[in-house]
This record gives sequence, C-alpha cells and structure tokens, in this order.
Amino acid sequence: MSILSRNHSDTLIIGGGLAGLFCALKLAPQPVTIITAAPLGDGASSAWAQGGIAAAVAEGDTPEAHARDTIAAGAGLVDEAVALGMVREAPQRIRDLLAYGVPFDKDLEGRLAVDLEAAHSARRIVHVSGDQAGRAIMAALVAAVRNTPSIHILEGHVAEDLISDSARVTGAQVRGPNGTRIAIPARAVVLATGGIGHLYAVTTNPDEARGQGLAIAARAGALIADPEFVQFHPTAIDIGRDPAPLATEAIRGEGATLVNRAGERFMLRIHADAELAPRDIVARGVFAEIAAGRDAFLDAKAIPDFAQRFPGVTASCRGAGIDPQRDLIPVAPAAHYHMGGVATDARGRTSLEGLWAAGEVACTGAHGANRLASNSLLEAVVFAGRIAEDIAGLAAQPRRGGIVHVPEGREVFPLHVPRAVKDAPVRPLDPRQEDALRDLMSAHVGVIRDADGLKHALAEITRIEHDNACTPQMRNMATAALLVTAAALRRTESRGGHFRADFPNSDPAQAKRRFMKLAEAHAIAASVVPAKRAVA
Ligand SMILES: Cc1cc2nc3c(=O)[nH]c(=O)nc-3n(C[C@H](O)[C@H](O)[C@H](O)COP(=O)(O)OP(=O)(O)OC[C@H]3O[C@@H](n4cnc5c(N)ncnc54)[C@H](O)[C@@H]3O)c2cc1C
Repeated sequence: MSILSRNHSDTLIIGGGLAGLFCALKLAPQPVTIITAAPLGDGASSAWAQGGIAAAVAEGDTPEAHARDTIAAGAGLVDEAVALGMVREAPQRIRDLLAYGVPFDKDLEGRLAVDLEAAHSARRIVHVSGDQAGRAIMAALVAAVRNTPSIHILEGHVAEDLISDSARVTGAQVRGPNGTRIAIPARAVVLATGGIGHLYAVTTNPDEARGQGLAIAARAGALIADPEFVQFHPTAIDIGRDPAPLATEAIRGEGATLVNRAGERFMLRIHADAELAPRDIVARGVFAEIAAGRDAFLDAKAIPDFAQRFPGVTASCRGAGIDPQRDLIPVAPAAHYHMGGVATDARGRTSLEGLWAAGEVACTGAHGANRLASNSLLEAVVFAGRIAEDIAGLAAQPRRGGIVHVPEGREVFPLHVPRAVKDAPVRPLDPRQEDALRDLMSAHVGVIRDADGLKHALAEITRIEHDNACTPQMRNMATAALLVTAAALRRTESRGGHFRADFPNSDPAQAKRRFMKLAEAHAIAASVVPAKRAVA
C-alpha cells in the first residue's frame, strides 16, 4: 500500500460525473483530487442524460411552480424547503454551466430553448442539440477540469472503502488500475459516485453505477435515507443491450404514444395523463403489458424530424434495425435513478464528519419517493456547488469547521476495513455472482415487490455479503442491494417508486422519510434469514 502526497488530496472527490466535476471546478483554486472508476467522462450517467436540466427560465414559469411539480411527483416525501431552495438556484447554475462552455439550445431571440417533460406543468427542460444534453455538458466540464491546474485526476481508480478515525472520515482506500491498493488521505471527502442501476439486470445506467458509494458510506456508519425508492424508467429500448439504451421522456412530451402488440394505447385506461403520467405509473403500465404477454412499444412515427431531434435514440434504434419514423420501438422498464442515498443536509454534509455527498449517491430530500424528470442534473449541480462553498468556507476557518488537519509526514491512517476485504487478492468480479445478484434484484426488488420476494432476496444477498471469496466490489454491490431490499421490506405500503403488491395502497401513517444505518439493514436481514443461511 502506498500513500499519496498530501498535496494531492486536500479535498478528495470520489466520482467524475457532473456532481464531482462541478464541485471540483467550484473549489478551484483549492487543491482537489478526483478519482474516477472509468476515464473522465466515461462511466458516468451524467454523460448519458438525454432530456436536460429542469430550470424555470422561460417567461411565465416560476421556481414556485417548479417546486410544486417536484413536490407532487415526490408522493408526499419531498422536503419542501430543500426542493424550493434547489429550484430557486437553478437559473444561476445554468448560467455557471453556460460560463463553462455548455452550448445549451437557444431560440431565434437567443433565449434558452425549453422542452416539456412528463409531470412538468411548464416547458422548462434546458437541453442541447435535442437529446445530447449529458454528452455536451460533460464534454464542456471535462475540458474545464483538465484545464484547471489545481485539479488532480486519477482515472481508473475505484474507491473500495472510506478511511476514518474515531472522529471523522479522513480519506479513502482505493484500488488502482493495476490492482494496487492505495490510501488517499484527505481533509474533506466528497462522495459523487452516482447511482445503483447496475444492481439490476435491466438498467439504463453505466456499469460503474453499482452502488459502491452507498455501500462504503454505510459501512463507515453514515445514515442512509429512503434507499427503497428506485425509479424505473418506463421506456428503455428493449433490444437486448446491457445497459439498455433510453428513449427519453421528451419523446412522449412531443406526442409519442405507448401501445401494446394489439395497437391499444394502454395508458389511457390507467391514468388521466396517459403517457405523461408520473414515471412509476407509466413503468408499472408497461411492466403489466409485458407481464401479460402483450408487449409494449413507443409509437413516435408522427413526430416530425425525429432523427434530427433525437439523434441518440435514432442511432440506438437503427443499430437494432428499427426506424423510429416507420417502426414501433419496443420498450421495457429499466432501473434508472435512485431517489434514496446517503442522507445529507442542505449543505451536502452527511452524518459523518469530513464526508459530503452530492449527485445521485446523495439523498437530500428534494426528490422524495419519486424524482421529477430532469431534476437530477439540477440537484447534482446545486448541491455540488453548495458543498464546494461549504468546504471552502471551512478551509478558511479550519479549526472551527469540519475539516481535519492531516499532520505533515503522517504515513499511516487507521483503516476500518474488515480483514477478509483487506487481504482479498485482486481479481475481477465473478460474472456469475454479479449476474445472479442483478437477476435477483430485478425479479424481487424491482418494479413490483412483495414480502416473500423481498425475504428471498435478503437471504441470497446476505449469502453473497458473507461469502469470504467475493471481491470488495462485489461485497459493496451486495451491501448496497441489502440496504435497498431491507428498506423495501420495512416500508409496508406503496408510494412513488416503491410498489408493494401485498400493500398496494399508500398509508398516510408512513408518509415520512425513513433513515437507516447498515446495522439496521443487517438486523432486518437476520430477522428473516434462517441463521444457517446468514452465516453460510
Ligand atoms: C440514460 C440516462 C438518461 C438520463 N437523463 C437525464 C436527464 O435528461 N436529466 C436529468 O436530470 N437526469 C437524467 N438522468 C439521471 C442523471 O444523469 C444522473 O442522476 C446524474 O447524472 C448523476 O450524476 P452524478 O455525478 O451523481 O453521477 P454519475 O454521472 O453517474 O457519475 C458517477 C461517477 O462516479 C464514478 N464512480 C462510481 N463508483 C466509483 C468508485 N467506487 N470509485 C471511483 N469512482 C466511482 C463513475 O465512474 C462516475 O465517474 C439520466 C440517467 C441516465 C442513465
């Protein structure tokens, strides 16, 4: 194990998606190290975003209206003050992105062009070249980061654990590209590792979105909020690819309909807003058609200039021999976004001193039980910006704030790492174990859940988590899956992205956010898992 120079790690940002890069840029010229599992710009959901960023910038729209839509989508669990604060900051953060060089689409008068997406009451999605928002935003930010001398980048490095002493998080333990393990000490650690989609067999997320940040924070003792709330995107393009390409919501916003094999517009009988109903309702509608053997398709044939307006979707379809202007696009629900995550306050601070969290890995309370479309990129920039401000402010008053001083020359940091993990040899994930976990999550902790399935999943996940032969990354996947599953069993109602077939209605008594530490998830698992399986 080697220790990096302290100069590289005053602030350590784990993750190089929008949240991580924006935070690093906002901290400049303070020294920052970004570690990222994939080359910068790759392996991040941010680069795949098709719709854009929600911001009340159009004439007649207001942050209050945006907040109302956010709160309505969140099914009773949105922290209203957090949501309102977030949407009020949206125009300023869009200006920041413009300043970093993001080429948002404009109208003829030079104003930001805005699209409509499901469950928004106004056109407020700021976008780039139709469906290229994520790619363009990330290209601009990657270029800005590479041009910022205070930002040190370690690509191909995977955080496997946090390092902490009795008082605070003091760095991270990281696996380098050649398998070596390094400890990176830091005065402040920002988790920006993205979501958990890859825990599921069908997902729109990149491979790197496998819940590692959630797991390592939970293992270090951080409070986790609402982990049961996973959003399934109703219209992943069902052409057998992993990850599944996405047919953005904006296509339905532009008038595309959902039909089954018989040509019936099935959403009309499910919800008054039909295809523009909240995502969870559309996802269950699509799921039900597929489960009934009727299949589900997006009919976008009537949208003019489809290829120009949605080039990414067109390319995915054409790759599978589908022409969206002539053919129906086969779709299926896919794990897409995690509303739950590491609990943070309005400054992005977690429950652990020295640890902040931003972007999809965090749970600020802004999304509640169901995220409003295009609010996640917004949340990433708003809270990453606030974290940078918080850390910069604390650095100016180091002794009173929350930032630890790493003594010069100190070479050894206490590691809170289980022995089996610490001594584990370097090897890739076992694909069979990984596939088994992903199939299990899709089958039992997916669009529709019930107690029997969740208990079965907990037993299997516990077995993987206790398997001495599994790699640290596989163990982290199992830990993240355990948190989602245990919380899903604990919530005996249906709300937002969490649907229980055995408790199909919302229960007003459970209309509150719920928090969990890893020990509670283990206790729930132990209460339903026969003892011999728990220790197998
Ligand atoms: C296909 C698709 C379309 C979407 N469209 C939209 C949209 O239009 N609008 C919207 O608002 N949201 C959209 N979303 C959601 C949004 O893209 C994400 O929620 C957001 O980009 C998350 O940003 P992030 O920075 O938190 O994570 P990411 O962008 O996923 O970045 C995470 C980073 O962490 C790294 N990482 C992960 N684990 C580790 C580890 N252990 N060690 C080191 N590095 C690690 C990854 O390599 C990556 O660099 C979409 C998501 C997908 C998948």
